[in-house]
Amino acid sequence: MNKVRAKKHLGQHFLTDLGIAQKIVDSISLDHPILEIGPGMGVLTKFLIRRPGIDLHVIEIDRESVEYLQNNFPEIRSKIISGDFLKLDLKKLFPQSFSVIGNLPYNISSQIFFKVLENRNQVPELVAMIQKEVAQRIASAPKCKEYGILSVLLQAYYDIEYLFTVHEHVFSPPPKVKSAVIRLRRNNRESLGCNETLFKQVVKTTFNQRRKAIRNSIKAISFNREAIVDHLLLTKRPEHLSVDEFVELTNLVEQNPLRDR
Ligand code: SAM
Repeated sequence: MNKVRAKKHLGQHFLTDLGIAQKIVDSISLDHPILEIGPGMGVLTKFLIRRPGIDLHVIEIDRESVEYLQNNFPEIRSKIISGDFLKLDLKKLFPQSFSVIGNLPYNISSQIFFKVLENRNQVPELVAMIQKEVAQRIASAPKCKEYGILSVLLQAYYDIEYLFTVHEHVFSPPPKVKSAVIRLRRNNRESLGCNETLFKQVVKTTFNQRRKAIRNSIKAISFNREAIVDHLLLTKRPEHLSVDEFVELTNLVEQNPLRDR
């Protein structure tokens, strides 16, 4: 069987180092069914199916890779989904919880994380190889320059571990950037203690102007800003706020609506 021809627009950089593949697969626990995103030619799949008791499903957008997987992994043929993860109805496929693994296509890794966030109560664990820079951002603590929207939103619901860095030369073709493997484990916060839709809006709005003090960037949200303009949180920049402080800020916004004149 011929190998799959790498397609740039699908972010196809195939991992060639089997030791690293094994290490990634060993990083995920088997307490739930597992969905592998973008198996390509199955370098992770091969190690995943060896793990006893695994219930593995894979989703791959590239038809050529799907055909390759069907021929080389007949034992999971009925669980190979040909399609786009971003369009997948996760609730229909997994009525219960499931974990996620993958060497992700870097061009859509943020969208994948946003989809995981939307389904956070169904996804207890995720192990993924992504661009090193994005991994650093996700794992970053407040007051670091990498700290941003994805760090706050993911850290609100997940414990994040930066596991290890992966160099360009272990891929074919090699990407232009370094990679890293991270693990997300759902924390025990069932709810944040604030309006969670507003929380997301506050985080996104303030980071959209990350150099500005929050009292300025938050003008884009409609509420009675004058009532809290002197609050200490509003004098800071978003990168200085922890998740708990964003929760506090969200509650301040919610508790001070605009009044009818
Ligand atoms: N897992 C393989 C490996 O480690 O060698 C391939 C990893 S490659 C970085 C990313 C894979 O994701 C490719 O096989 C690509 O076709 C697939 N992919 C890209 N976009 C996708 C999407 N929206 N849904 C599912 N798979 C996708």
